[in-house]
Amino acid sequence: MTKHIFVTGGVVSSLGKGLTSASIGMLLERRGLSVRMQKLDPYINVDPGTMSPYQHGEVYVLDDGSETDLDLGHYERFTNSPLTRDANYTTGQIYLSVIEKERRGEFLGKTVQVIPHITNEIKSVIHKLAADDVDVVITEIGGTVGDIESQPFLEAIRQFSLDVGKENCLYIHLTLVPYLKAAAELKTKPTQHSVGQLREIGIQPDVLICRCERSISREDREKIGLFCNVPLEAVIEEKDKDFSIYEVPLSLVDHGLDELIVKKLQLPTETLDLDIWRDILHRLRNPEHEISIAVVGKYAEHVDAYKSIYEAVDHAGMHHHAQIRIGRIHSEEIEREGPERILSGYDGILIPGGFGERGIEGKVEAIRFAREREIPFFGICLGMQCAVIEYGRSVVKLEDAHSTEFDKDTPHPVICLLDEQKKITHKGGTMRLGTQPCTLDETSRSAICYGREDISERHRHRYEFNNVYRQQFTAHGMLFAGLSPDEGLVEIVELPEHPWFVAVQFHPEFKSKPTAAQPLFAGFVGAAIERRSKKTGAAQEVEAT
Ligand code: GLN
Repeated sequence: MTKHIFVTGGVVSSLGKGLTSASIGMLLERRGLSVRMQKLDPYINVDPGTMSPYQHGEVYVLDDGSETDLDLGHYERFTNSPLTRDANYTTGQIYLSVIEKERRGEFLGKTVQVIPHITNEIKSVIHKLAADDVDVVITEIGGTVGDIESQPFLEAIRQFSLDVGKENCLYIHLTLVPYLKAAAELKTKPTQHSVGQLREIGIQPDVLICRCERSISREDREKIGLFCNVPLEAVIEEKDKDFSIYEVPLSLVDHGLDELIVKKLQLPTETLDLDIWRDILHRLRNPEHEISIAVVGKYAEHVDAYKSIYEAVDHAGMHHHAQIRIGRIHSEEIEREGPERILSGYDGILIPGGFGERGIEGKVEAIRFAREREIPFFGICLGMQCAVIEYGRSVVKLEDAHSTEFDKDTPHPVICLLDEQKKITHKGGTMRLGTQPCTLDETSRSAICYGREDISERHRHRYEFNNVYRQQFTAHGMLFAGLSPDEGLVEIVELPEHPWFVAVQFHPEFKSKPTAAQPLFAGFVGAAIERRSKKTGAAQEVEAT
């Protein structure tokens, strides 16, 4: 029988429920259990793919092409839980499905209500993940307890334990225990209130995970336990980690969380094996190189907008024992000030994906700078399209070359909509989404990085390289290093004459893990390290003479 863990959050949003849920999943897997992860989001949007990165951070894309919440990125980085579209549901999707059933007459004219119709629908999406080979399903409820929007979800998970048996469910509530400077003490009242709200709707949390800036004394844990009706050993501290998010699971182990969960759910497990995880942290703490990478984008001030990119760069750093300083650069700043002052100190330049015209010329200038100064360059999706535009204009001499996304009347549409995409109408309009195969040129840098010629990576874009220009670009030195198996689509371009210039139409960042850096990210960071050591070597030589 599959066991269920529900993770809710209280007091404030942004407590890191996603990270905590992912950490729990990882710890259970490291005990030999098979885990499935899922997030239920209370917002009404049906399609997370259309939400602003300003409000919701990046759109995370799964193998099957589902566009989901960025917390699913944490799930994939921490666990091996296979994620499909069933791993993320919003209120909008739940209601849409119920309304569609009503329109088809499936409710036989009965009054359709939040309880039981909406709550049944929610329970059915949770049940979908349970299977014979699944030991634990971890369902994270987005939002904060007390929000109007999350009520049907909380009601559904309350009912869930009635349906499958109390002994098969575990409720974990994440709260905040703030430190008040003026009083010089930690405050437990917000936790008491949020657990109070949960109990009002009939959920008694089994475990409290308390986010805090400072350690919580035994006395305070006892107080929380008493007021919230939770035994002392189930009041778990989760102190802020300034060093790395990958410390979170280890600290939860130190506070006994994994032991508690397997005991409460009576899960027969192997002993916890955290060697790989400890190795990651060892690498992070003992770097052998220090480099800096500029990520030139449109949402530089917003950390979550390029979440998976930053994580993938860090993973490549762990792979090479390198500490990486990431410069988050606004491409519009480059338009205003030129690339020299802003970019010359960096060992590598990365342009991530994106939509819309703002800041495009700054990205193009950054790429020209990287190409001319022989700085390792990695372009991703829009980053590849900008690399093609730049090369088209500067080297192939196609005046005003552009993407038709930004200039419909460009004389040289080097990036455009291909007919195949125009035909696709499902999900996200004309978007090409999800995992697609790609064949690599055996002489390419990409083939060296991957160590093989057949790869597959995730996509999320509409526009493509315009094949009309392929020959001209090849004649001017660009290598089409990766193509779709039918050779119809350009997936990777490279400049063989450059120390490391690779740009890809897909999103490799979605497949990177701390325990297995994505090969192209590893190659890029490796090239940046090489450049840095040559530079320091040259500087030392000058000093010695
Ligand atoms: N806007 C571009 C396109 O639609 C690139 C998309 C992206 O970078 N994800 O093709």
